Amino acid sequence: MRYEGTVYRPPSEADSLLIQATIGCPHNKCTFCGMYQTTNFRIRSVADIKEDLRTARDYHGDKVQSIFFPDGNTILIKTDQLVEILNYAQAMFPYLKRMTVYGSAKYFKLKSLKEFQRLKEAGLTRIHSGMESGDNEILRRVQKGFTPSEMIEEGLKVRGAGIELSEYILVGIGGRERTREHAIESARVLNAFTPDFVRLRTYVPWEGTPLYEDHQQGRFHLLSPHEALKETHLLVANLEGPFQLLSDHVSNFAWVNGSIPKDKPSILETLEQLLSVPEDRFRQADSRFL
Ligand code: SF4
Repeated sequence: MRYEGTVYRPPSEADSLLIQATIGCPHNKCTFCGMYQTTNFRIRSVADIKEDLRTARDYHGDKVQSIFFPDGNTILIKTDQLVEILNYAQAMFPYLKRMTVYGSAKYFKLKSLKEFQRLKEAGLTRIHSGMESGDNEILRRVQKGFTPSEMIEEGLKVRGAGIELSEYILVGIGGRERTREHAIESARVLNAFTPDFVRLRTYVPWEGTPLYEDHQQGRFHLLSPHEALKETHLLVANLEGPFQLLSDHVSNFAWVNGSIPKDKPSILETLEQLLSVPEDRFRQADSRFL
């Protein structure tokens, strides 16, 4: 396998074979994201991706059960080409149970329901998608590239094709000014299209990004640990589900996991208990080194 640049993958793909299908991110505008800032986006050729799959089969054997195709927004690849890649992976690895990619609602718009159904038939199991917030103003400010109503429409389309959606919510991305709107609107949008998984991450400024500069200059007010916990509490209180809620990331101040709505009372109780812990017992809000 050949890798270019830093390869990012969700924690839940820790055991997956990683085969880069795109390099960088075609959007590359989100003001909080520093992942691919210096990378020129390109889609790798199908021939190169197939070659990497063959190399992986020779190296690991044919027992691989899960493949994740980085980098950002691999869902952008033309459907015929993605189907060819997914079919080839299935042929290389007959025990395969899961194939996943990154994709945002901005690029879901480029595919029809029928195309998503073809991808599902070819073995695409799950899409990891950064919704970040359901608040229109926050999405506009961070230049996410889609609106809440587009997120709902596109989320329903992907779910309608039978592909699992794992949505990422960025606690604190509205800053102090929009913490309430962020929690309530994110819950409203998530309830409307019910992704399979809602995964929480807490915003930590990333040096070199526009939002880091706003934070440094005092134009963006980072939530303190207690404020982030209160925001999470308001979000969870408004979630109806059904979906799995996970906080599977080291950035979070609370480790809250469970099924919504079944586990909502115990998750809210955990958050309330954490709010009684003094703030200086948590990591610093702007510390990337946890
Ligand atoms: S779409 Fe994702 S990878 Fe691309 S800039 Fe935004 S957050 Fe970063």
